[in-house]
Amino acid sequence: MSDRTLALSVDGIRSYLRCPRRYEFAHVDGLEGEADDPTTEGRLEVLRRAICDGLRADSDADALETAILERLGELWADHDERLHSRTQRRHERRVLEATARAYVEAVGATHAAGIDALGSDAPAAEFVGPHLPLTGSVALPEREARASIEAPVDYVSADGSSLVGVRFVPTLRPLGLLRYRDRWEGDVADLFAAHFDPERDEFAPGLVGGLFETSVALEGLRALRDELDLTGYRTCRYVQIPLADRSRVTVNWMRDAVEASLEPCDLTDVFLDHQTFGMTHQHRNGAVESRLADTVSAIARGAFDPASRWETIAEHACPDCAYAVCCGPRVAAEVRFDG
Ligand code: SF4
Repeated sequence: MSDRTLALSVDGIRSYLRCPRRYEFAHVDGLEGEADDPTTEGRLEVLRRAICDGLRADSDADALETAILERLGELWADHDERLHSRTQRRHERRVLEATARAYVEAVGATHAAGIDALGSDAPAAEFVGPHLPLTGSVALPEREARASIEAPVDYVSADGSSLVGVRFVPTLRPLGLLRYRDRWEGDVADLFAAHFDPERDEFAPGLVGGLFETSVALEGLRALRDELDLTGYRTCRYVQIPLADRSRVTVNWMRDAVEASLEPCDLTDVFLDHQTFGMTHQHRNGAVESRLADTVSAIARGAFDPASRWETIAEHACPDCAYAVCCGPRVAAEVRFDG
């Protein structure tokens, strides 16, 4: 791996947190693995594109909803997914439509107005994706180099004096505790530390990955703000919005109605620690940034052997791993078990 070409993504780093060998298969060797849930990913992509196209077209709530639903109809017509029947296909479309309406009601209209405001401040800039790249970086002192890390967002909006990056995700489940807390100090900080403590069994790659992602996204937003000279936005925030959470969908078969609700998650407050904030006056977290730098450094020097955390990885990461059949440590462990 050349110093000059060390470009990482937060999704790759999240994969490394689950298992370093899995990261090596996917991101170093380039071996294709099955997506976690290709059906959900495909539907999420349809809705993501429909919403982004709607946001580009209109900011008035009613017009926004109409624009998103019309675009959703076009994209769904081209969406190639095997379903049992036309009835099921119609039902899945109605679930997406209900989610789109819930999005507009919960935050869509407000975010669209914020995008309009940004457009006035920086007319030539593009604030709507999908998959707008935000980039942070980490120093690699032992190599006298830096690694760049990409954290894509689907759009950037304004909320008062904050610049807000928004990413659509399937569900918030991988975030674990982060969904239910609004402060770093306490059990979030403790679980984060425990994940890296070899004396403790806790394994929280989703929570740690969510905090790493927030760190990179906020750095990317600060860089975007400075690059576009958006001086009126003093702080940056990072929000995830789940668009494929079946637990938020209800079907009333008697009334032939599908309804959905949506719960965006602003990760900024649970991320920032008050000590770092007191020193920098920015939404930052020294502990997370330090561990992110250590993790990136480990990737850079090729530390892919899962042996040091084998018991935890075997229990939590191996069972759903697409590389299990070609993975030496996993095969060796199964042979030992059978023998
Ligand atoms: S099978 Fe287990 S050890 Fe091998 S790459 Fe997958 S998660 Fe890692």
